[in-house]
Amino acid sequence: MPAFMEPFRIKTIEPIPFPTAEERQSALVDAGYNLFRVPARRIMIDLLTDSGTSAMSAAQWSALLAGDESYAGASSFERFESVVRDLTGYQEVIPVHQGRAAERILLGSLLKPGDVSVSNTHFDTTRASVESAGATPVDLPAGDTEASSPFGGNIDLDALHDYLAGSQGRRVRCVVLTITNNAGGGQPVSFANVEGARRLCDEYGAMLLLDASRFAENAFLITEREDELADRSPRDVAEMIFALADGCWASLKKDGLANIGGLIALADTDLARRCREQLIAVEGFPTYGGLAGRDLDALARGLMEVTDTKYLRYRAETAQWLGDQLTKAGLPVLQPTGCHAVYIDAAALLPHIPPHELPATALANELYRAGAVRVSELGTLVFGRVNPDGGHDVAAPRELVRFALPRRVYTKSHLEYVVETAATVAGNASTIVGYRIVDQAETLRHFSAVLKPLG
Ligand SMILES: *Cc1c(COP(=O)(O)O)cnc(C)c1O
Repeated sequence: MPAFMEPFRIKTIEPIPFPTAEERQSALVDAGYNLFRVPARRIMIDLLTDSGTSAMSAAQWSALLAGDESYAGASSFERFESVVRDLTGYQEVIPVHQGRAAERILLGSLLKPGDVSVSNTHFDTTRASVESAGATPVDLPAGDTEASSPFGGNIDLDALHDYLAGSQGRRVRCVVLTITNNAGGGQPVSFANVEGARRLCDEYGAMLLLDASRFAENAFLITEREDELADRSPRDVAEMIFALADGCWASLKKDGLANIGGLIALADTDLARRCREQLIAVEGFPTYGGLAGRDLDALARGLMEVTDTKYLRYRAETAQWLGDQLTKAGLPVLQPTGCHAVYIDAAALLPHIPPHELPATALANELYRAGAVRVSELGTLVFGRVNPDGGHDVAAPRELVRFALPRRVYTKSHLEYVVETAATVAGNASTIVGYRIVDQAETLRHFSAVLKPLG
């Protein structure tokens, strides 16, 4: 068998653009050297994100036609609800249009001003929802987020215990486990870690919630890396994890295998009732929650397909293969790779570019210039801050570049092209220059910032 093989064949195709060197250069200039501002028709291989970029199966496309667009009580909702109940065991199922709507509604209904939410790492939209409820997000990632441990996404259980037992402990309303830990490099959370968090939540009276946007990928990595669960299926492990928590939300733009959608699922009927009141105000009636009936049918089918072991193995092996090839091509890759992306340490590749000159942005832009490959920067442009005292920006902890893998979209030959492009860029690393920001928004500056190359 080859290193990995796509466990599907292609039925519908979409041509990809082949911009010339001149077109790539002018696209960069026109975009203010910000890849978010480059039009997709100028991108050959788009690894910007795995969110909402999945290819649907033939079964999902045919499910779209079965969509029931009735305003209230649509049968599409009944099918969606039944799949989510089977998977999670939670009786209360609330659809929303995407993950951040779920966070806003659930955390807004649960948290009161002065409360604390403790997490392995709140994803940035999660953090924003906690704060907008007047509560405080506290991140307690297990020491080793250097991604060298098999479960680099874990929460630090000792620190969680100390926090719950400490002076602020009574303020903790919920513990949130983000599976996999997106902001922490897409690393998984172990089953033992979820069990440990469950025990502490029981002892101190906090709710245990999952940000389950990549629940299937997390479950698969558990079957690969946690000996006790090696003979269970990813679907079994996913069910066991949901059974440990009190509820979850998810962006279904990831493991829903569709292009839009989100959900809240809860055991608590009263909390679900409060969520539905909010839902009606901001998303829609509880049986569609901001989605079309056909979306609910595509998602119901996607949630059944996503725990397929062959699919998940292919996905993990793709990331591993890409990581190994990029390493051979001379790029510093964070190991072990997870499922949804491969991360490169731009600071190690470009030691001559200091953080305030945005080495991760510089690397991402060179990948585009060299081969119309789009990746995302997760360095000082995204996580740094303007220095309140003037002077250089406060640097991010790390200067990472993320090669995200859209689900079921690109083939191995596409990724071979990405590796070739990256090898060319790595070979010219010493000639790459940094950037300065000439225009930026106050929040989420990376989406719209305008940059200029130095030198
Ligand atoms: C994407 C994501 C979200 C937000 O979901 P959207 O669908 O983009 O609104 C929340 N949490 C995690 C872990 C995510 O990856």
